[in-house]
Amino acid sequence: MSTLPPYDHTPRPYDGLSRDVILSLRAKHCHPVIFTLYKEPLLIVEGSMQYLFDDAGRRYLDLFAGIVTVSCGHSHPTVNRRVIEQIERLQHATTLYLHPNFPELAAKLAAKMPEGLDVTYFTNSGSEANELAIAMARMHTGREDVIGVRNAYHGGTATAMGLTSHSTWKFPLRTPGRIHHAACPDPYRSRFAGTPEQIATASVEDIRDLIRFSTPGQVAAFIAEPIQGVGGVTSGADNYLSEAYNMIREHGGLCIADEVQTGFGRTGGHYWGFEHHGVRPDMVVMAKGIGNGFPLGAVTTTAEIAAAFTSRIHFNTFGGNPVSMAAGSAVIDVIEQDGLQANCREVGGRFKAGLEELQARHDLIGDVRGRGLMLGVELVRDRMTKEPANTETVALLELAKEQGLLLGKGGFFGNVLRIKPPMCITDADVDFALEVLDDALGRI
Ligand code: PMP
Repeated sequence: MSTLPPYDHTPRPYDGLSRDVILSLRAKHCHPVIFTLYKEPLLIVEGSMQYLFDDAGRRYLDLFAGIVTVSCGHSHPTVNRRVIEQIERLQHATTLYLHPNFPELAAKLAAKMPEGLDVTYFTNSGSEANELAIAMARMHTGREDVIGVRNAYHGGTATAMGLTSHSTWKFPLRTPGRIHHAACPDPYRSRFAGTPEQIATASVEDIRDLIRFSTPGQVAAFIAEPIQGVGGVTSGADNYLSEAYNMIREHGGLCIADEVQTGFGRTGGHYWGFEHHGVRPDMVVMAKGIGNGFPLGAVTTTAEIAAAFTSRIHFNTFGGNPVSMAAGSAVIDVIEQDGLQANCREVGGRFKAGLEELQARHDLIGDVRGRGLMLGVELVRDRMTKEPANTETVALLELAKEQGLLLGKGGFFGNVLRIKPPMCITDADVDFALEVLDDALGRI
């Protein structure tokens, strides 16, 4: 049995509802589409930085961060302090009145963006932010057609569900039309052959075909995650986005980077995922990590594109809420002060090298991929056929949990381990996680 690295935090005794009561309340009163991980669902009642604690006070290393959301660390003291100070003064008033937090965070985001991307609209979630980005692109271009990428996830509201390209997440409901999905450039499962760069180029040719054969020849927008998150940490080679953006711009469209998972330093080498591809999007969509757990989303774009969306009123009651703004602002400062982007690069590099070493010894690992602290491990039953090892993935998650390690899972077939922890994990955490994975892989 591996031992978690030492950590100085005593969780408070838990005296809330029991697991059984919570389970029965959930079964009776909560919507059944809401699901839990694990055969015996975990009751998590406290967190401190990269660790979570259950009702019995047991500590776990969290490698999933509330689905890539707790960027700085659970209950990070600086984020907490700034949020508490704000809650004690004013919880809500709306953007109808002046307040410093909302323009302050907008200015901080502008300072992190490429030149000219300096106007932000705040929402409460990534889905809402994607809805808005598409609406703005359509208004600005006067066109309707949008190109997305297969295997992408962009949310569960109407347009966002249309952008999402996974039958798993699509209900048989009418979603706004004229959204088309091009081939996913992920070299591991692409139907195109060649080097990752050639596969990226072939995938961009697929965009050309879609524009030619499924649209009036001009488009409103292209939207892509620099690294697909829910899709299983999949991405195209570094030439993909630049070639795709050129193709879209030749056909009159705007380029939207969905940075909901890849933003805020997580990929290590750069603050934004798109920067690895050397591109400048026309809009950047954010959520999750921007708030460290507070409901906060945003779209940053140019003044010109934003202006096209002023012909009618668009209002969001909670968008710009002073408490969420305080959280977002604190997150940006903490990423700087705690050196979290550099940590993602360094600790993430150690983690990836360790996973590749496990791949050399465990046939179950078909592919190791990702950047910084956004890593994926695809499990397959046979490296030739790439048959997805989905039940094995579930078994591995259970074994890891028993040893105090919480992982995420994703990919179309549910066979990809998603490793996207709070960005403050240490070398010792990585070594512990690799030991647990090594042991669990050996037992499956
Ligand atoms: N875009 C991406 C890339 C995401 O991963 C998600 C959430 N998984 C969303 C958008 C939607 O965000 P939300 O759940 O906050 O609506």
